[in-house]
Amino acid sequence: MVRITVAKGDGIGPEIMDATLSIIKAAGAQLEVDEIEVGEKVYLAGNTAGIAKESWDIIRRNKIFLKAPITTPQGGGYKSLNVTTRKFLGLYSNVRPCMSLHPFVKTKHPNMDLVIVRENEEDLYAGIEHQQTDEVIQCLKLISRPGCEKIVRYAFEYAKQYNRKKVTCFTKDNIMKQTDGLFHQVFDEIAKEYPEIENEHWIIDIGAAKMADTPEAFDVIVMPNLYGDVLSDVAAQIAGSVGLAGSANIGEECAMFEAIHGSAPRRAGQNMANPSGLLQGAIMMLNHLGQTDVAENVQNAWLKTIEDGIHTYDIFKEGVSKQKVGTKEFAEAVIANLGHKPSTLKPVTYAKGAKLNLPKYKRKPAAKKELVGVDVFVHWAGTNPNELANVISDLDDNDVKLSMITNRGIKVWPDGFEETFCTDHWRCRFKPVEGATISKAHIVGLLTKALDKNIDTIKTENLYAFDGKAAYSLGQGQ
Ligand code: NAD
Repeated sequence: MVRITVAKGDGIGPEIMDATLSIIKAAGAQLEVDEIEVGEKVYLAGNTAGIAKESWDIIRRNKIFLKAPITTPQGGGYKSLNVTTRKFLGLYSNVRPCMSLHPFVKTKHPNMDLVIVRENEEDLYAGIEHQQTDEVIQCLKLISRPGCEKIVRYAFEYAKQYNRKKVTCFTKDNIMKQTDGLFHQVFDEIAKEYPEIENEHWIIDIGAAKMADTPEAFDVIVMPNLYGDVLSDVAAQIAGSVGLAGSANIGEECAMFEAIHGSAPRRAGQNMANPSGLLQGAIMMLNHLGQTDVAENVQNAWLKTIEDGIHTYDIFKEGVSKQKVGTKEFAEAVIANLGHKPSTLKPVTYAKGAKLNLPKYKRKPAAKKELVGVDVFVHWAGTNPNELANVISDLDDNDVKLSMITNRGIKVWPDGFEETFCTDHWRCRFKPVEGATISKAHIVGLLTKALDKNIDTIKTENLYAFDGKAAYSLGQGQ
């Protein structure tokens, strides 16, 4: 028996959770359940996190969390419980299988069967944002080597375990050469360890277009957080319905399983909702727990029920569906089909008891890190970069001189274009002159001079070379 934590959530949550638990218990899942309260009631009682401390204790003790959707009240500073849970528990991997159920569920893509593996903790979702000038706000995109290694390895291990043939990586590394560049580089490194699995990389824009048009060309797709967030909804929708997809959020210690849809408050309490998305989450949970025979039985019974045309209102279609049922009746039909396999849809087989081989991340030896310059960001209300260069070059000393000014990344000095639109947010790059070096003392000196001259410096970014390789972006047009 495994103890898991269950939250029935809000809206349709309790109905689809009851249905899901009844099915997996009938199939023989070896589970004991601790129920916790999360979501709307907890938020409205004044807890902006939507979850009480005692509930965290239960989640951390049991390590496995099956969660129904919750309603996040609008406004009022309420924090998304999903994002908090993923980060607090280190759930770095978000896995969403999206498979069409043609001809039983309407889709333009009858042969679609792909899995999106999305990095779940970093990227722009670090949520580090600052307004720095009247006109400009920044959001930090943080991509780490451990983050990339863990998610890419997860994608390949998942492919191996579930007999998938290809892993595709989506990034935008033609533009973000450092951050997305690292993700792509790590993908290439780890792919070499799995010669039996095909690998490929697509630039995200054309990759997304291809996925929306020809999803059957993909198998497993791994990508950074923001792209994965957007594209996993697209994939679920074009497979047939967001109401049919589940997701797993996996960490080194803990894991959370859920449906991808929300709490659908307008459908609550009417025995209408489709429990399939949460059931798919629960099947991933059973596989994660090694209860693969139960997972297989439930998935095949579910496929058979869909194939039998027993459908909830959201996927019901005259001529294709045979019987429109409510949440409870759908669950009863799946239970009645336990032990049976679909005949048109492909039955599943899951490898018995096998676990993904996911070693803990080991920190690499430190590289030789060398300071080679500094970007000083300035809030300046003028519009002519030549004027700013005159002011800023006053900060030069014998060793370190202004080498470039950019505005929103595009070089505007020296030799900028008059046509380039400039905001009040300027990056002034200082580099040592030929034969000299730069130290942190130089940076302090620059900032002190800027203070004396009333220049509004808003931040600095040090420019480093790691093992002799410049590790920062050039100005566009440089
Ligand atoms: P939603 O997913 O709840 O609903 C979108 C549409 O899909 C609605 O028409 C709904 O009736 C339908 N639908 C969704 N799930 C269904 C199901 N199982 N069966 C049948 N129909 C279904 O999205 P929304 O309306 O944007 O959000 C409602 C609430 O859910 C919001 O408070 C939002 O914050 C929350 N939400 C929670 C989660 C989560 O907890 N994981 C995820 C997304 C949204």
